[in-house]
Amino acid sequence: MSGYIYMHRKEKGRIVEGYVPWDEAKIHVLSHVIHYSSGVFEGIRGYITDRGVAIFRGRDHYRRLVRSAKIYRMFAQDYMPPEIAGDGIPPVERVVDYFMRITGELIRKNDLYNRAKEVKEKGDMANPFVYIRPVIYRGYDVGDDPILKPPLGVNPLGNPVEWFIAVFLWDDYLGTEAIEKGADVITSAWAKNAPSTTPFMAKGASNYATGQLAKMESVLSAFFKDYDKVRRLKMGDSLTRDDLFLPVESIQLTVSGHVAEGTGENIFVVIYRDGDPQRPIIYTPPIAASILPGITRDSIIRIAKDEGYEVVETMIPREMLYIADEVFFTGTAAEVTPIRTVDGIPVGAGKPGPITLHLREIYTKLVRGQIEDRYGWVEYVE
Ligand code: PMP
Repeated sequence: MSGYIYMHRKEKGRIVEGYVPWDEAKIHVLSHVIHYSSGVFEGIRGYITDRGVAIFRGRDHYRRLVRSAKIYRMFAQDYMPPEIAGDGIPPVERVVDYFMRITGELIRKNDLYNRAKEVKEKGDMANPFVYIRPVIYRGYDVGDDPILKPPLGVNPLGNPVEWFIAVFLWDDYLGTEAIEKGADVITSAWAKNAPSTTPFMAKGASNYATGQLAKMESVLSAFFKDYDKVRRLKMGDSLTRDDLFLPVESIQLTVSGHVAEGTGENIFVVIYRDGDPQRPIIYTPPIAASILPGITRDSIIRIAKDEGYEVVETMIPREMLYIADEVFFTGTAAEVTPIRTVDGIPVGAGKPGPITLHLREIYTKLVRGQIEDRYGWVEYVE
């Protein structure tokens, strides 16, 4: 069984748009995006609920997508069909409506609601959810005599703006254990790009070059739990998983060494005032710290404030991660994931703390439609 991907491409200047069978959703090797990273994307999540697929803040994700594209001078009138583009600059909300409508159709056409139930029953996936991946990119329109001067310079303006939306089922992002017990993470030597390099307010493919390097660094590293045991190790001795922390993610710093974010998550640090967990202060880096303005980050800031917590957006030095009482990630895929160790140093008591768990509880119930959605963030595809 397979599915469909929705694609918008240009062929000889004409728009070709519609559903394409999964195996046939292809782009040309001379597409600009492959060579120069000229693409922006989104990651949106739909939860399987009794009322259908609950899409979390889909409109906010598509607004960010349209803005990401605009930063790279890919304008809606360049990639929308004429009925949406009109004859000027189409309102962002009209473009967002269009993307949302196609997303809903695609989820239904691919029967993801029923398929999620199937794979869960069979035990193929623990907690399947719908992942929505739209990409807007600079493509390649094969001309009549293509071998003559194909547009493959750095200048992207001669390449058509194309896009697609793919929807599929995914499982826990950082692993089920990380969500429950807390994730082991490292701080990476690969810094985030400086503000004057690639634009971090755009969710652009190029931002993920350092992210990939940092991610590999983390998943291939391990920390020994016990210094004495390591010192006593002799050839032939064996170590077990229990002797090690096995990091699943990296925290990247800014070029000046402040905490920025995970490779696919924003980060929060909790410090108890006077050591009192009843009086926490929740810190998170500001937008200017080379971070993606995460939609989960925004949701958690709003929920935390509504719960009466003090939330401070400020630059965070690396060592604050080591002395914090709690640290957690937020993201569409990661939701609210507690962090248990950073660079092999336990965070607080080395297990998820009460503030993290409290916010996680509200967030995970809200996105699954299990508590009242007072923010109007959840939209159902039935
Ligand atoms: N930072 C980066 C680098 C990301 O890739 C993501 C995932 N989109 C996030 C933060 C979290 O953003 P959001 O909450 O919007 O998913």
